[in-house]
Amino acid sequence: MAYKISDGCISCGTCAGECPVGAIAAGDSIYVIDAGACIDCGTCAGACPVGAIQPE
Ligand code: SF4
Ligand code: SF4
Repeated sequence: MAYKISDGCISCGTCAGECPVGAIAAGDSIYVIDAGACIDCGTCAGACPVGAIQPE
């Protein structure tokens, strides 16, 4: 299991700076989480200003 970023992402970049393992990067239209690197800590979900990150 990993966290996933939804279409509600406004590409603010906050989550990428908060992830302890650097699993988040800017994608083509929204930010994306590398499921293989994500350790399910949930930090990004708490940091996202629009609630776009959920456990999958
Ligand atoms: S849940 Fe934690 S490890 Fe996974 S992408 Fe979010 S901040 Fe990074
Ligand atoms: S914190 Fe939320 S809105 Fe900002 S880039 Fe990450 S997922 Fe997108």
